[in-house]
Amino acid sequence: MTAEPCFDTAAILEGLRPWIEIESPSSDPEAVNRMMTRVQSEFAAEGAITERIPGPTGYGDCLKVRSPWGGDGPGILVLSHLDTVHPIGMLERLPFRIEGDKAYGPGIFDMKGGAYLAFHAYRELHRTGRTTPLPITFFFNPDEEISSVTSRPLIEAEARKQKYVLLAEPSTQLGKVVIARKGTARFTITLRGVAAHSGANHRDGHSAVKEMAHQILKLESMTDYGLDLTVNVGVVAGGTRANVVPEEARMLVDMRVPTKAIADEYIAKVRGLTAHDSEVAITVEGGAMRPPFETTLATLALAEQIRTLAEEIGFALEPGKGGGASDGNFTAPIVATVDGLGVVGEGAHTDHEHIDLTSVTPRARLMYRLLETLA
Ligand SMILES: [Zn+2]
Repeated sequence: MTAEPCFDTAAILEGLRPWIEIESPSSDPEAVNRMMTRVQSEFAAEGAITERIPGPTGYGDCLKVRSPWGGDGPGILVLSHLDTVHPIGMLERLPFRIEGDKAYGPGIFDMKGGAYLAFHAYRELHRTGRTTPLPITFFFNPDEEISSVTSRPLIEAEARKQKYVLLAEPSTQLGKVVIARKGTARFTITLRGVAAHSGANHRDGHSAVKEMAHQILKLESMTDYGLDLTVNVGVVAGGTRANVVPEEARMLVDMRVPTKAIADEYIAKVRGLTAHDSEVAITVEGGAMRPPFETTLATLALAEQIRTLAEEIGFALEPGKGGGASDGNFTAPIVATVDGLGVVGEGAHTDHEHIDLTSVTPRARLMYRLLETLA
């Protein structure tokens, strides 16, 4: 007789607690690596094949874990980041604690809670002597919160080998899974004009700040809520003194785009900005960061399987759009990708980050059933 898998909220929280108590800000490679070591040893203790991929100086390592069954063929990639946005010491302000039907802690919602559910699902398969139709690869990166600068090529290479990608990033506010996310682009725009004494020879100057004002309005007016396109001038700086016509000004711009076509069109518009005052030079640096996560037919089919499994477990799980970007933006153009399979909660990146305990068992069961049934 085969043993039955265990999905007990208290037991899952007990296992999750040490993951939360190992603080792991992206900017602290030693701290993130302590977290990687913890997860690596827990998987190794459950018979999985683990491989550490050292990060370049200043970044933590990646960790790749494979199920001992199923060989190397196309299978399921479960993608999780183990870094958080919280600095070391946040644990004092936001200690791991359970209050009513909520559990609090740094990174518990984004996304250690979800990463732990994936580990738990694997462990229950192993513990009960089961295997799955497809081999499973778990990939943990150390730098998602800083745009996956080092792990992106590794993630994309891994995705190309797989049939499905699952991400247990936080569920949306309405508890939906994520099958679309906007892409992001970032720009640093520098304006260089001609300085002059503001009293003695104002008319000889060409103000970089005045030019920037024109450009800010031009950029902001690209925002089109109907298209789901936003352009945000988030930081501006310029000038030196009140009595000097400013020679230089600089702004940081964030753009969110729903599709690759719109991304291409609007990134080109920003790159092609022309000055109102021809004596002011505009330099645009930057461009696309994460491509848009557009819903493909393969992703839609995977979301439908997830909806059916959730219904069997006893909860409704509709697909929706995610708020920010994630590593799913990198895999979605390559292979069927569903994100937001993590726990329900609130307050990601804040001092009241928490998860909703009623979602833990159903979501753990869902992850388990996905691994067990995807073929
Ligand atoms: Zn996240």
